[in-house]
Amino acid sequence: MVTTDPMLQHVFRAARGFLDTLCAVSSPSGDREGLERMAAVVGAELGRRGFGVEVLHEPDREGRSLPVLVARGPDAGERYLLLIGHLDTVLPAVPPRRANGHLLGTGALDMKGGFAALVGALDLLAARGVEAPSDIALVAVPDEEVGGAISERMVQRWGRGARAVLVLEPGELRGDRETLVLGRRGLMEWRLIARGVAAHSGLAYWQGRSAIAAAARWTAAAQALSEPGRGPTVNVARLVGGDAEFVDGLDEHHDLVGTTSRLNIVADRALAEGELRFLTLADRDRLLATLERLADEVAAVTEVSLELRPGQRVPPVDPSGLGRALAERAVAAAAAAGWTLELEEDRGGVSFPNFLPSPSELPILDGLGPVGGGMHTRREFLDLQSLRRRIGLLADLLAGLGGS
Ligand SMILES: [Zn+2]
Repeated sequence: MVTTDPMLQHVFRAARGFLDTLCAVSSPSGDREGLERMAAVVGAELGRRGFGVEVLHEPDREGRSLPVLVARGPDAGERYLLLIGHLDTVLPAVPPRRANGHLLGTGALDMKGGFAALVGALDLLAARGVEAPSDIALVAVPDEEVGGAISERMVQRWGRGARAVLVLEPGELRGDRETLVLGRRGLMEWRLIARGVAAHSGLAYWQGRSAIAAAARWTAAAQALSEPGRGPTVNVARLVGGDAEFVDGLDEHHDLVGTTSRLNIVADRALAEGELRFLTLADRDRLLATLERLADEVAAVTEVSLELRPGQRVPPVDPSGLGRALAERAVAAAAAAGWTLELEEDRGGVSFPNFLPSPSELPILDGLGPVGGGMHTRREFLDLQSLRRRIGLLADLLAGLGGS
């Protein structure tokens, strides 16, 4: 049952009006003017609530300068409570409208609703006479929907001074329940290089050492190490083999595929590439050690040299990490307000928190924004009941995070 708190109801109506305004602004990724307008509208609202507001300009990958909104409470100095959001949407806006308790609008869910929830939460705290943390720093980026360089850079930069991180992206709607994101998988790219011995398959077959056979053996065993549930996974994304000239010069020699040329060579080179995904650094290290051992074992049996090279790493947000206590507080606050909040302990896909310098050393909560559906489509909607709930939830969390 929804309890009718008149204070919350009043604040909710104002936040809903603000959300209408936000959704009427068209701010698809790359639309500089629209993004500036979004930054200005959100900035003005926070400015009225005592925040120091700046719009920075940062270059994206193409060198275009795009706005980043930074709004800081009076005590957000070297250390702060970092709130993260994005100004951009996937599609250009069409006029928003309300129907059946939903707001249908471009970016209503992802993630203009998160800004409306924040403004509502600040108002609710003010109405209750409770102080919001004075060290809030909100950073809103312009290029999240295109996996942008600015998003990554800003989270890295602002993450350094954060004492805790709240991400205003939407939670998920699961039947009559809503979620909060606690864990996010990290990833590590890898490459395996197999070097065998070439030989004529008719004249000297047994002198050859097939790099393809060795790499296939390793990749099949590696992929089979993947554990269902919360365990780590191994993905073999590519496997290429053949004679060394072919593999090392694919650009030039790829058109050999489909011909009968050089089928009489025992393949002396193979290359496999892929990634690991994991929820904890311990999982990653354990898996990597197993993969290295596997390379040694396969090399010993096949007499093919196998070299495993780790590549780029993105850290996970460990669901048993420092965000846990905060998440449990949120679950309790929701229950006290009469609704059910579920924790997503294993969300795949890299997002804002993965770019923090050391996510394992910070309390992080993601998915604090209101839920809905149809993300990134013309059917996108936000559940207005959820906006009301999330205003209350965010207010309770902020009240508990007061004092730096
Ligand atoms: Zn988003």
